[in-house]
Order: sequence, then C-alpha cells, then structure tokens
Amino acid sequence: MKREKKIIFLCHCILNCNSKVEGLALYEGALNKILKYLIDEGYGIIQLPCPEVTFYGIKRWGHVKEQFDTPYFRNHCKEIFMPYLNQIRHYIKNDYRIDGIIGIDGSPSCGVNKTCSSLKWGGEVGCEFGIDEKINDLKMVKGKGVFIEEIEKLLKEYNLNIKFFCIDEEDMYTEDKLIKLLENN
Ligand code: SF4
Repeated sequence: MKREKKIIFLCHCILNCNSKVEGLALYEGALNKILKYLIDEGYGIIQLPCPEVTFYGIKRWGHVKEQFDTPYFRNHCKEIFMPYLNQIRHYIKNDYRIDGIIGIDGSPSCGVNKTCSSLKWGGEVGCEFGIDEKINDLKMVKGKGVFIEEIEKLLKEYNLNIKFFCIDEEDMYTEDKLIKLLENN
C-alpha cells in the first residue's frame, strides 16, 4: 500500500492566487515550490475555502482585521470550516496524520503570526475623506487573522492539536523557511 496517510491543509490562495485582493499576488497561479515539496513528500493536500471570496467576492477592496472582526464574518468562517473540521476528525479517527494548516501571514483572515490592522481604515475613499490618513494608519501587527482564529477555536473545542504554519504574502522566500520547518516537523 503506497499511501502515506499524511495530510496537510492549505489556505486557498496557495493553490489559487486569483482569490487574493487584486494586485496582491506575487505569483501566477499556485505556489510551485511548496506544492512540489508537499507532493514529493507524499502529502495529501486539502485546499480550504477562501473566506473573503465566499463572503465578499473577487471585487472586494483590501481589508484590515478590524473590518472582518464582526459576528457575521466570524460565523461565516465557522460555517465554511465545519466540513473540513469533520474531515480532520474522521481522518484522525482512522489513523491518518494531519501535519498542519498553512496560512498566509499578513492576511486579515488567514494570517498566523501577523495580520494587517488599522482603526481608521474603512468608509469612503477619496482625498476629501482623509484617504492619506487612512493609508498612513495601515500596519502589520502580531496576531492571527479572523479565519485562523475561528479555526483555532474549533480545533480546541474538539481537542485537536494541529500545528499552524504560514507563508508571507509579501515575502515568497518564506516558502524556503516553511519547507525547513516542515522537514523538522
Ligand atoms: S489569504 Fe485567505 S482570505 Fe486572503 S485570499 Fe488567501 S485564502 Fe483568501
């Protein structure tokens, strides 16, 4: 039997950059290096849904975490993750390994170590609405995005201990760092 019985979950845009806010992708379609590594290592790969596309669609503006920190978006994150939570529970019960969930640092939804933040970002766009002040207030802060927070809560609720990894949407060299982390996992 060839199957390795090991599985990894990827945030959606690792396999499909088209889900990102327009202008953000640094690659054409999918992240080759990390995917090649996972395939060569015999991982089964499961792609999570993109919480932003399934909530706001592809023409959305870039958001900050504070804008997604609403009961509505949190409920949406829970709802779309539930089928995957059930898969995780089922695989584990049947002696499969879930080696991690790979998020996207910098994202207000899928960030693992850092996420984008601003208390001023939002409202009307334009000079008369203080756009410069809004832009100047944008920052990266330590912390998880809303989707990852909701995933973490659900995993905890079901006593599932699954590691989070990430790549950085602004620094594709993190693919190499991530591969090293997975090698030592
Ligand atoms: S980081 Fe998350 S929310 Fe943003 S495009 Fe990727 S999957 Fe969608």
